[in-house]
Amino acid sequence: MYNYGKQFLDEDDYHAVLEVLQSDFLTCGPKVSEFEKKICAYTGAKYCVAVSNATAGLHLAMLALGIGVDDEVITSPITFLSSANCVRFVGANVIFADIEENTANIDINEIKKHITSHTKALIPVHFAGQSCDMEKIYALAQKHNLFVIEDAAHAIGSKYKDSYVGSCQYSDMTVFSFHPVKTITTGEGGAVTTNNEELYQKLLMYRSHGMYKSEQMKNNWEYEMLALGYNYRMTDIQAALGISQLKKLESFKKRRREIVAYYNKTLNLPHLLEKEYSEACFHLYPILLQNRDNFYYKAKEKGLNLQVHYIPVHTQPYYQRLGYKWGDYPKAEAYYQKCISLPLYPTLTDNDLATIIDLVKECL
Ligand SMILES: *Cc1c(COP(=O)(O)O)cnc(C)c1O
Repeated sequence: MYNYGKQFLDEDDYHAVLEVLQSDFLTCGPKVSEFEKKICAYTGAKYCVAVSNATAGLHLAMLALGIGVDDEVITSPITFLSSANCVRFVGANVIFADIEENTANIDINEIKKHITSHTKALIPVHFAGQSCDMEKIYALAQKHNLFVIEDAAHAIGSKYKDSYVGSCQYSDMTVFSFHPVKTITTGEGGAVTTNNEELYQKLLMYRSHGMYKSEQMKNNWEYEMLALGYNYRMTDIQAALGISQLKKLESFKKRRREIVAYYNKTLNLPHLLEKEYSEACFHLYPILLQNRDNFYYKAKEKGLNLQVHYIPVHTQPYYQRLGYKWGDYPKAEAYYQKCISLPLYPTLTDNDLATIIDLVKECL
């Protein structure tokens, strides 16, 4: 049985976790700050806040920016629910903008059509690991005075032009996910990077109940609650796993890119295109098929457990109740009707790939 994705853990990962279990800190100890520093070093961002999952990270980003009722935030309909839900968590309105056909990333021209005097932020999603054209998105955002939060749940290890996704060269914050289906894992987990010290302080505060502690306070036990925050902390157990996984990221990337190149060449089926500005650490390999549903069930019978990424978020019952309907975003909907993600994970061997390709051809 081949799944569309699969985590990879080795002896080093097990040891890293075991070491924490035998130490004094299970949470909020030295491993979380070490992991944050390592993510900064890897991505080139100044600050990093590790969090309990990417959904929490996106929520924190909304809180740190002070987004709220009457504000509008624009994101892609081809994404996981969280990219939109985080906007609803703070009572703001989600506005979707349709996708580009050849990358399934949000289309800048579609964003332009939806900017109003209420628009406060953009959440581009780096779909399948390929970065959006951030320089252009950032220029548009600056023109209209909008914040930019990159949903990089798929894109740790990816590069946009000369910098790693997460460097925040063209955004205010970037959010990563370390759920086991993503490129590196901490079980559950995420991280937010930024270059802005003020946003960094707010992320820290909201991550831990809105609490603030300072050296200036008279007594050690003092703290002040300045805002209504949450408990979105990562544990040291998770962070230790993250540090260990991060060491393997470049080798994961190399193999993921090899597999994508091999599928492109050997299958010759409609797939996403990689743009000249991108060097993606691919998270997904979607192909586009007219008879997708049929293919899905045939593949399942033969041992390929594939997945559809994604049902357009605006068509979910919750978003329909807010006024969205089928037909609102035709390119996203057309993409959804055809897409299916083939197995993509670094432990697939050349033999596995040959088997998968034979099975895929049998199911077409
Ligand atoms: C997985 C995912 C998330 C949510 O990540 P969690 O860590 O599971 O909260 C957000 N956005 C996208 C695009 C994702 O794929």
